[in-house]
Amino acid sequence: MKALPTFDLVLFGGTGDLAMRKLLPALFRRHIAGEISTDSSIIGVARSDLSREEYLGQVETTCRSHLKQDFDEARWAEFAPKIRYQKVDAHADQDFQALAQSLLGRDSYVRVFFLSTAPDLFTAICEGLAKHRLNTPISRVVLEKPLGHDRASANAINESVGAIFTEDRVFRIDHYLGKETVQNLLALRFGNMLFEPLWGRGRIQNVQITVAEDLGVERRAEFYDRTGALRDMVQNHLLQLLCIIAMEPPASSDPAAMRDEKRKVLRALKPLAGRDVLSKTVRGQYKAGASNGEPVVGYLQEKGVPASSTTETFVALKAEIDSWRWAGVPFYLRTGKRMQERLSEIVITFEDVPVAIYERPDDARAWNRLIIQLQPEESINLGVLAKSPGAGMRLKPVDLSLDFSETFPERQLDAYERLLTDVIKGNLMLFMRRDELDAAWQWIDPIREAWEQHDERPKSYTAGSWGPAAASSMISRDGFSWSNEL
Ligand code: NAP
Repeated sequence: MKALPTFDLVLFGGTGDLAMRKLLPALFRRHIAGEISTDSSIIGVARSDLSREEYLGQVETTCRSHLKQDFDEARWAEFAPKIRYQKVDAHADQDFQALAQSLLGRDSYVRVFFLSTAPDLFTAICEGLAKHRLNTPISRVVLEKPLGHDRASANAINESVGAIFTEDRVFRIDHYLGKETVQNLLALRFGNMLFEPLWGRGRIQNVQITVAEDLGVERRAEFYDRTGALRDMVQNHLLQLLCIIAMEPPASSDPAAMRDEKRKVLRALKPLAGRDVLSKTVRGQYKAGASNGEPVVGYLQEKGVPASSTTETFVALKAEIDSWRWAGVPFYLRTGKRMQERLSEIVITFEDVPVAIYERPDDARAWNRLIIQLQPEESINLGVLAKSPGAGMRLKPVDLSLDFSETFPERQLDAYERLLTDVIKGNLMLFMRRDELDAAWQWIDPIREAWEQHDERPKSYTAGSWGPAAASSMISRDGFSWSNEL
């Protein structure tokens, strides 16, 4: 494995949930893989007064619990000296001065500022970095989602970050794009000729994208209540997945080519506004029910959620793309918390044959479908009809399946492992460009405004179900069903 260039990774929010659960274990895994050079360093940064030993203790605990049997004592002994801790309050000038001291003489190394904090700190952090000349020419900034809460706030953040870091040094993360299956979807589409003639109107009947979580709001109630499912999930993850399915083949593997194509899709989304929003979207909020066999409280009873909250924990919507390839093909998107199971998948249903000459099952699942599953397992299945053994010509649905863990027994990279190494290498391919983000917010804002204008309150659904009945009615009006209802 080729080592990455020597880097200093300054991890703002270094004591937070994301850093502890995902980022630090991902870095340790890349160290085990032999990618992190001896001189590289990782500097955890937060407001808390912690000694280096205390911080290291927290990082070791989290790495042990996440890597389990993969935790390697000898590799940990090599990794630990790379980790430091620096107390920095985003609003305290003297803290940035101390940070600058700790990076003195290391200007020639790749420098990454990973902002794993609330977005309202992004501006203050970038200004602090610039004031103390920490933004060297080979420094990069990584911005975690959500980037703003509407188009105006996202633009304000992008303006202030952009005043300090040029666009080619800004890495806006959407960790769904780092998933192996998403890369494989690109490989499937642009590495083979097989699907291209079938990829669009006349051949594809509908596309469904589901990102369902079985968890509730957990420790993020306050943040979630301000945000809701539309801004937390649809604006970024679901729209990015839609782009990967709907984009035209890029002219090259250059990041700019792919980002151009994704932006074109977002710009071609038919605007959803006014009363149209009421028939093409469904808002939901979970009430008490059960999750994995255990009783769970409703959203309004969650700690930290106001009893009168009207925040949506579920969204289903119908998106349409005004392009020659996709006009008339509905894209149904849905996401929610406390759903029946944890499942992220894309289901592409092809048109049925025009004339059925063989006896076929009376079952909509028998239609040709391409199912790309991202969670809980990563797999790609193509459903086709085959002959049932025995006399006669009876057809039966079978799967041509690509199970990644079987086909490629080597360990797959976690999304954050891939994305962190891409940042260090300076590869922008899997990160959102500013104009993409702007186009996504431009489509999302009118939906929220219409909900407010028409006082569209979330419909309740039982925790542990697939969301409000209205979501099924929305899709059945078009003559279709959600893939789990077939
Ligand atoms: P978190 O657990 O609340 O951690 C926030 C971090 O920011 C802590 O390390 C906190 O440490 C630090 N912080 C707070 N105020 C600060 C200040 N004034 N100056 C410097 N540091 C400050 O949040 P999180 O869940 O890790 O999420 C971080 C970001 O990633 C958020 O934008 C979130 O939306 C996004 N995100 C999180 C997840 C996830 O799974 N957690 C997933 C996707 C995106 P101190 O209090 O010690 O300063």
